[in-house]
Amino acid sequence: MEKVAVFPGSFDPFTVGHESIALRGLTIFDKIIVAVGFNANKKSYFSLEQRLAIIRKVFENEPRIEVISYEGLTVELCKKIKVNNILRGLRTSADFEFERAVGQVNKAMLHEVESVFLLTTPEHSSVNSTVIRDILLHNGDPSQFLPRSINIKEFLPR
Ligand code: ADP
Repeated sequence: MEKVAVFPGSFDPFTVGHESIALRGLTIFDKIIVAVGFNANKKSYFSLEQRLAIIRKVFENEPRIEVISYEGLTVELCKKIKVNNILRGLRTSADFEFERAVGQVNKAMLHEVESVFLLTTPEHSSVNSTVIRDILLHNGDPSQFLPRSINIKEFLPR
């Protein structure tokens, strides 16, 4: 049976760290579904459409990666699309504490769900979307932290 994992996140924007986790996920799973979380009450820097477009461009030549959006709880998405594996990346002990709580709560809500964590490679452990948004806000060049295949200037924030 095909092994599938959902890789959820806000991806505002998608970074080299995210790209690495998704690609490394493909060594464990046959297919990865990158799921961009959408929260109508939370303002993002890039619109949902831009975030989806960026990730779809990154993986345009990777048929084993699908990109979707969702609103609400990740476990509800898992039920809806019948996927029981959630892939997440771990950078720091702070990530671990956060992910432990989320992972345990997800399992309590949906027993079949298993969270799978990949440790970030050292060169990506300080890359995060918040810093990239800050660089963009101040007209800096964040390209070294973004997937090679995208030119962020083509994806203007709203
Ligand atoms: P969220 O808003 O749900 O935390 P993010 O978009 O920030 O989502 O991140 C999605 C997932 O990618 C999380 O598991 C996060 O730990 C992981 N991640 C974020 N940045 C990196 C990075 N530089 N290297 C590896 N994993 C990362």
